[in-house]
Amino acid sequence: MLNLRLRDIILSIDDVEASLHSRVATLLRLEKERLHDFKVVRRAVDARRKSQIRRVYTVEFSLTDDDFLRRHGNCKGKLEEVKPIVVPQPLTARRSKTATVVGMGPAGLFAALHLARCGLHVILLEQGEPLEKRVKDVLSFWNGGTLLGHSNVQFGEGGAGTFSDGKLTTRVNHPWSRLILQTLVDFGAPHEILIEARPHIGTDLLRQVLLRFRQELERLGVVIRFRSRCSELMLRQKRVVGVRLPNGEELCADYLLFAPGHSARASYAMLAASGVAMERKPFAMGCESSILRP
Ligand SMILES: Cc1cc2nc3c(=O)[nH]c(=O)nc-3n(C[C@H](O)[C@H](O)[C@H](O)COP(=O)(O)OP(=O)(O)OC[C@H]3O[C@@H](n4cnc5c(N)ncnc54)[C@H](O)[C@@H]3O)c2cc1C
Repeated sequence: MLNLRLRDIILSIDDVEASLHSRVATLLRLEKERLHDFKVVRRAVDARRKSQIRRVYTVEFSLTDDDFLRRHGNCKGKLEEVKPIVVPQPLTARRSKTATVVGMGPAGLFAALHLARCGLHVILLEQGEPLEKRVKDVLSFWNGGTLLGHSNVQFGEGGAGTFSDGKLTTRVNHPWSRLILQTLVDFGAPHEILIEARPHIGTDLLRQVLLRFRQELERLGVVIRFRSRCSELMLRQKRVVGVRLPNGEELCADYLLFAPGHSARASYAMLAASGVAMERKPFAMGCESSILRP
């Protein structure tokens, strides 16, 4: 069976999506019935010309004809084989090791999930509060209450985007992005986020997804510790062997994954003081070519 993906199929705003299957069959000069498991995997709206708003689709389907691509070409580069997504797994010998993940934003959450699914013992540290308490702290602040340093719009379960409207923006075009979205769907996000060019969850649903995320981590045996700030790295011969909390508690770890987000200045100061090498992200800037002309 040959799994194929076809990009840039255009429908006018008046065409019905159900016509896609026949449209693709006609494009490929095949009977519709030969396109198995036909599904839309991406949908975008092209509104650059107001008089001609169009929808642009990517679809996937299977053919029993394994040789189809070689014999019929790739439709100007728009037709390609769908390859299975392979995510690297830790070596078997490392599976019984302990990994400490610092930070419960998206980066830390997904790292903890993947490592736990691979069989590592995972400890997940978050300086802030669990979602339920964090929401109360933020609402209290917005209503004139005190700003808590450890529990606010930036810090706590879910990380910095928890009080956003849940736009799932990533400028990374990587096959694993789909696995991230699929995981969110598994935890209750709408199936549409797998398809829409600008996926969006919404604040309320995002919080429910986060709670299911936590339940799954706990089911996998991840030890989640809130109000647990990593305040110091434990070093032995310049190797990290664990972390220290403000009350002096030491947590040894075979691996440490630090996912503090971009606002935890105290954490960056601590890393710098521990001698961790850091560098700024590269900076990209757009500019009109006419400005560059002499
Ligand atoms: C108001 C707002 C709205 C946003 N809206 C959107 C949006 O709609 N769509 C979008 O794609 N992006 C949005 N973003 C950006 C998005 O939130 C970030 O890109 C994303 O959260 C980064 O994830 P992260 O896991 O790297 O870090 P973070 O989400 O910042 O998570 C880091 C976590 O680590 C914890 N931490 C830090 N240091 C320590 C330590 N020493 N010990 C223990 N815990 C520690 C912090 O408390 C925090 O919870 C928004 C950001 C903000 C602030």
